[in-house]
Amino acid sequence: HDRIVDQDFLEEDSFELSLRPTRLSEYIGQDKVKENMAVYIAAARGRSESLDHILLYGPPGLGKTTLANIIANEMEVGIKYASGPALERGADLAAILSSLNPGDVFFIDEIHRLPRTIEEILYSAMEDYCLDIVVGKEASARSVRIDLPPFTLVGATTRAGDLSAPLRDRFGVVSRLEYYTTEHLQMIVERTAEIYDTPILTSAAFELARRSRGTPRVANRLFRRVRDFAQVLGEGLITEAVADDALERLEIDDSGLDYVDHKILRGIAERFNGGPVGLESLAASIGEESQTLEDVYEPYLLQEGFLKRTQRGRMLTEKAYRHLNIEIEDKKE
Ligand code: ATP
Repeated sequence: HDRIVDQDFLEEDSFELSLRPTRLSEYIGQDKVKENMAVYIAAARGRSESLDHILLYGPPGLGKTTLANIIANEMEVGIKYASGPALERGADLAAILSSLNPGDVFFIDEIHRLPRTIEEILYSAMEDYCLDIVVGKEASARSVRIDLPPFTLVGATTRAGDLSAPLRDRFGVVSRLEYYTTEHLQMIVERTAEIYDTPILTSAAFELARRSRGTPRVANRLFRRVRDFAQVLGEGLITEAVADDALERLEIDDSGLDYVDHKILRGIAERFNGGPVGLESLAASIGEESQTLEDVYEPYLLQEGFLKRTQRGRMLTEKAYRHLNIEIEDKKE
């Protein structure tokens, strides 16, 4: 049955691809980032230069990849992709860099996971548009300098803090993407519904937006599932009742928290007496990867005030207790 799984993945991917805005003007929200980017793009274009290197950081699913594509589009240049952990050999990096056309965007996802040796090769590429490579072995080894066309490195990371200072310093622009407001997510849901020719009531779009953890990727995925329920169980129209029912089946609670969030909050309450608890012990006790907890789940729980960070670890807040209690009472009825 692997094929079905594969196809499902492909379908999900192409679903997301088809929803990607291609112009800055279609990119919803992130107003500050967008305004600044528009200026940098116009300035670079006015001077017929390549755009400065750009570092985008923030939680996953906020549209960093989308924005990198838009930047290339607006600059009318090509884009090549790589991901930090997959760039293992200097030769791979050299191959990509020397295939770039002048002004192209080179996008590196998860740039905080670049191997150190690759990172060091990247320094001179970013700074002087050249590569210093060692060819030959032992006694006959010598360093060769390869000139590169000017290019724009766009790095994406969930953890700007994990970047080494010399790498971070080589980015002319460092932009932080924020969780989206409900208002902007609602616009994203409505845009998606329009692209998919699916009628949705404003109240339902609002409900989906409100429960999407500030994240467009989540909003679009929830939309897709809710649309299935509307089609099979309803008459195709996404109403608030349909959305509500579907979200409940998907175990997305009223605050947009899913079962992993619940596992985290309950885990801290029940096994660690509300905390403080270290990330590793928490992750081990609930069987999740600590990196996933830290990058994906925790930022939203912190922002929404369900968790707080202290020097000795994570602690539940009063809000989290109230949230859990209300739920427990609900279940008793
Ligand atoms: P990450 O930030 O982890 O790189 P991502 O950039 O890969 O996340 P995308 O795949 O770019 O996330 O975006 C996820 C989905 O959300 C895509 O389908 C994209 O169309 C949509 N999306 C993201 N940002 C916006 C936005 N500002 N306006 C409209 N749709 C958006």
